Amino acid sequence: MTRLIVQQFVSSKSVISIISWLLSLMAIALLACVYYFLSTLDNLAESELKQRAELALYIENEHHEDILSEYAFWNFAYQKVYVDFDPEWVERNIGQYLLDHYEFDISIAIAPGDQMRAMSVDEQEANLTYEQIMDAGLSQLLTATAEGREQEESLNGYLKLNEDVYYFLSGHFVEEFTEQPRPGHYLVLGIKVDQEYLDKLSLNYQLDDLVLVTEGTSLKNSLLLYSPKGEELGALTWTPFVPSKAILPKIALVFLSLLVISICIVRHLLKKEQQDRKAYEERLYREATTDSLTKVKNRRYFMELGRNELRVHHYRQKGMCLLFMDIDHFKSINDQYGHRAGDQALVHFVTLCKQNLRKSDIIGRIGGEEFAVVLPEADIDAALEVAQRIQDNLRDSDLLINKQRLKMTVSIGIATLSNEPSFELLLEHADTAMYEAKGAGRDTTRFYKHGIAVANSAS
Ligand code: GH3
Ligand code: MG
Ligand code: MG
Repeated sequence: MTRLIVQQFVSSKSVISIISWLLSLMAIALLACVYYFLSTLDNLAESELKQRAELALYIENEHHEDILSEYAFWNFAYQKVYVDFDPEWVERNIGQYLLDHYEFDISIAIAPGDQMRAMSVDEQEANLTYEQIMDAGLSQLLTATAEGREQEESLNGYLKLNEDVYYFLSGHFVEEFTEQPRPGHYLVLGIKVDQEYLDKLSLNYQLDDLVLVTEGTSLKNSLLLYSPKGEELGALTWTPFVPSKAILPKIALVFLSLLVISICIVRHLLKKEQQDRKAYEERLYREATTDSLTKVKNRRYFMELGRNELRVHHYRQKGMCLLFMDIDHFKSINDQYGHRAGDQALVHFVTLCKQNLRKSDIIGRIGGEEFAVVLPEADIDAALEVAQRIQDNLRDSDLLINKQRLKMTVSIGIATLSNEPSFELLLEHADTAMYEAKGAGRDTTRFYKHGIAVANSAS
């Protein structure tokens, strides 16, 4: 059975999938933005930590320089170290004293010609010798200090001694009144860069897990330490702060929840719209193909189905019959019982017809009280039998209207498919036969054969 051609719209399914795809693409784009934002945040955090580490070393250095210049800017100390040479005084004031009162591990006073004048070493570093320290790079540090970079009263650098790294600071003794450096006379202070020292820095400058790495150093999250000779001795590293690790799961959760919720809402709305539209289309389709009173096929749809059946039967070379039924004296039913009763009579007639037809038979309303039935694959005998049955049943089933018995009869014309080129012509032949039945006194059947309508006999 064919259906009327219905205007095709973009299917809701494809709209749903397009919107789902668009939402997914938007989600991906948004995720990319979030990723970009977070990685920028991570990079900023990384460089901020590096700056903090540099600042920590800078501040520490400033602090140590202050201590060094406080003791080197002291004529009395110069007198005691270089002129009088009072080892006891030296030890009590700038030797062991500095080690005990500050975090220094080494204190050295140096005379011109890079001669060691006095040296105090923390007992844990007792095995260190002056020559060893000089070889490790102190001589280069002193040379740089001697070259007297005007802005810098002291210089610092890192030395590697017995596999340990030390931070050294050197500065000239200074004449108090003239504020001139005394050439060749240096005060040198050293600190062992051990874990204890780093833990203190770590705490003061909030650099988590600050450690000294001497192998496998990298530039990421670390500060390289160089000796005065320019050798790379190691690097200070710390645990990086990665904001994205903390934020990403939360953002992802919120984001995915929103995505899932919006996809669900959109899908729900579109599905509902699809159902509503389907129901609406079906209603339109029904209204366009059905007779509103009797609910059988309307003329236009009946003709379309008829044409199709004719084509199929021609192709398969099978028989097919068409009944044309016209209710007798229907006008007088209207006149006698009223138009409403006429309507009821029409519905009654259709109900009765349906009871006498097969499922495959197609009944349609051709005009006011005219109906036609396509009997697929039926021969004339079968068609006559159907017509007879309808007429007999109609005659015998009175319709009760306002307690009055309404009697109805119908005249039927039959056309069998021979070589009619069109369904319209077949209908015309059945109509001709029906008029013959009217002429023959109504409530009877005629069939169309070779241009003439014949009485109720197939022979
Ligand atoms: P005949 O036996 O020659 O067919 O006579 P008839 O009265 O049935 O034929 P006629 O064509 O003179 O009248 C048909 C009537 O059917 C006229 C019209 O008012 C009535 N009719 C057409 N459609 C409807 C309808 O939907 N409802 C009702 N109640 N009457 C209708
Ligand atoms: Mg009529
Ligand atoms: Mg009639």
